[in-house]
Amino acid sequence: MSFESLNLHPLILKAINDAGYTSPTPIQEQAIPELLTGHDVLASAQTGTGKTAAFMLPALHRLASPSQVRSRGPRVLVLTPTRELALQVSEATAKYGKYLPRAKVVSILGGMPYPLQNKLLSQVVDILVATPGRLIDHIQRGRIDFSRLEMLVLDEADRMLDMGFIEDVERIASATPATRQTLLFSATLDSAMDNVAARLLNSPKRIQV
Ligand code: AMP
Repeated sequence: MSFESLNLHPLILKAINDAGYTSPTPIQEQAIPELLTGHDVLASAQTGTGKTAAFMLPALHRLASPSQVRSRGPRVLVLTPTRELALQVSEATAKYGKYLPRAKVVSILGGMPYPLQNKLLSQVVDILVATPGRLIDHIQRGRIDFSRLEMLVLDEADRMLDMGFIEDVERIASATPATRQTLLFSATLDSAMDNVAARLLNSPKRIQV
């Protein structure tokens, strides 16, 4: 299978080509078509399988069409358990979205100064990549408008569960529109994760690689 056959926006294909990727990995091959049709997805995939592009390419494809809602708030929100993973996701997003005019990425991480984050959040944001604790602070201070949020991604959700962040994740999800598309990526899918998925996802497609 080729990336061309996945029907991604030409400016995304151009960036993938620049990255030197010749064909989709198994998780990309399975997840991208489901995500492009708007389904929720529950995927078990380890790091190194290409999972970041599996969720970010369809997210960027959405951003290639203008939002129907007029606000500065994010259209895509990615939650990660650690700052390191958030930075990796942000870097990959910038790489895959470099030719798209409306794919501004902002990272909101614990341990970083508030004044800078406040400034970033007062400007247009298309993709917000965040760790849950710090994001809750900003939500409670009324600094984030989720009215145009279309997609919520929970990356390495099993680690967020293990680290005790899942309540924060659920509170964040409840601050976003119920019409959103929700994706949960986890290295393992056990019954605890199934319970989380049952609360946050809507008839998800299950993908295992
Ligand atoms: P990830 O699992 O998202 O951390 O990705 C692991 C590595 O695979 C990263 O260095 C990506 O740049 C690379 N990668 C992702 N998708 C592809 C692909 N389709 N072809 C080649 N490399 C890829």
